[in-house]
Amino acid sequence: MEIKVLVVEDEEAIREMLELALCQSGFAVELAADVGEAEILLDKSVPDIILLDWMLPGVSGIDWARRLKKDELYAEIPIILLTARGAEEDKVKGLDSGADDYVTKPFSPKELSARIRAVLRRAGSLAGQSTMEMAGLRLDSEQHRFSIEGTTVELSPTEYRLMEFFMSHPQRVYSRNQLLDQVWGRSTFIEDRTVDVHIRRLRKILIRHGRDELIQTVRGFGYRFSEKP
Ligand code: CA
Repeated sequence: MEIKVLVVEDEEAIREMLELALCQSGFAVELAADVGEAEILLDKSVPDIILLDWMLPGVSGIDWARRLKKDELYAEIPIILLTARGAEEDKVKGLDSGADDYVTKPFSPKELSARIRAVLRRAGSLAGQSTMEMAGLRLDSEQHRFSIEGTTVELSPTEYRLMEFFMSHPQRVYSRNQLLDQVWGRSTFIEDRTVDVHIRRLRKILIRHGRDELIQTVRGFGYRFSEKP
């Protein structure tokens, strides 16, 4: 699974530099020149991380970060603020807005790449980077392989994505809508019920290995993936 980075930067030269550097580092990149453009992209698909310039025409990066962090759909997308400012108080203001990290221009592409990976690791969403293991379950994103206690288990593409999402976001409860958004993508018209159908299939697979208790129903809200009962 490729890591998708949404870059919001009004200066074309910096935007192009970021696109080039991030593509070379193996990220999938989407570009926006302002918050309006970014919102259109966000509506189509949710990125793994947002690189957000502080000084933008119209809505500033910091105001948008604040808004995203209040939106239940987007609150969990990590944000790195890009800025020419370096003063300590600005840094505090930036992190207060809910941004996860702060990079001062000029920065080296290498440094930025490392910061992106660090933030994603902290956010627990660095799927696609390595192998995730939990309760005897193992998901190898590079080889696209899922196994339980060493036995490879065949999953459909949707089951795989759902499993990958659960394993990279354990312990938290997700509503059906959130799962639809995260696993199926927002642009698709799928009923909530579809989530239940796929969860049922995944449980059926897990039950054969005595692991079905990992996917828990949280009544009135949705589902949680957890080792703890
Ligand atoms: Ca700017």
